[in-house]
Amino acid sequence: MDGKLVPWENAVIHVGSEAATRGLNVFEGIKGYWHDDGRFGIVFLERHYKRLLRSAKLLHIPCQWTYKDFENAVFELMGALLTKEKDMWIRTTLFAIEGYWGEGTKSDLIMTAYNQDKAEPQPINLGFSTWQRSADNVLPARIKTSTNYQAGRLARIEGRSRNFQDMILLNQWGRVSEATGSCILMVRDGVIYTPPATEGALESITLDFVEELAKSLDIKFVRRPIDRTELLIADELAICGTLAELVPVQQIDTNPVDPYGPLLSKIREKFFRIVRGKEKMPSFEVAFVPEGKRMKS
Ligand code: PMP
Repeated sequence: MDGKLVPWENAVIHVGSEAATRGLNVFEGIKGYWHDDGRFGIVFLERHYKRLLRSAKLLHIPCQWTYKDFENAVFELMGALLTKEKDMWIRTTLFAIEGYWGEGTKSDLIMTAYNQDKAEPQPINLGFSTWQRSADNVLPARIKTSTNYQAGRLARIEGRSRNFQDMILLNQWGRVSEATGSCILMVRDGVIYTPPATEGALESITLDFVEELAKSLDIKFVRRPIDRTELLIADELAICGTLAELVPVQQIDTNPVDPYGPLLSKIREKFFRIVRGKEKMPSFEVAFVPEGKRMKS
């Protein structure tokens, strides 16, 4: 925060800032994993930085930090908190700390990081929310801003009472957009499908990675609009994202679905092998926290 490592309790922003009053920020969630050789690798760091800039551009929030500044700050914070038993997720948020209705906007790039269990995700029940993904001329889904998560929060609250761990939001055309914090993967007849971002999904970095994984495994991967009823009769389903990783789905609405079907299981296995450095893939980008930045580990 403000270019320095700051203890949790001192990391505060002003109640009068647009960050607080209008929830004005854009952010990224980024994941790092321990590799067997003892290095700690951060997944697609530069792609996250570039998406942060795209979100900032759309919301007119200035960002004066270069990729090198961004990378250094991530290394510094992660390096300070790394422990051997845990992977880590870092939230990098560009908050509007000064300005009014888009005039005189000033920002601070604030990062918070969280240790995470190494366990792989367990199957979930997925429901359909009555809340709708906002349209591109309302609050564009491609902007990764906190205010975009209000519908997702309502959907989670709605789902919890019906025993769904996550919910699918439909878009203004009644078609599938994404889950509350991740994208959807559907298998039908040996092909993996996902809706394009123009259906109201975030431009997901994990999806691009899954597409590359599918290609490397000779599995067909297609982006096209998806109807709700297609999910109900899908052969396999999973949700994917940086934090979610790849979560198998065992129930969609009231219909059971095989959480360990062949195609998405293959993708999942390869995904974890690559992010943990057990297998190489040329298009996979990883930034290692330099030894000199690591305080405890
Ligand atoms: N959709 C939403 C709403 C998300 O919050 C996320 C997580 N960032 C995703 C999709 C997946 O995006 P990514 O793969 O880039 O993490």
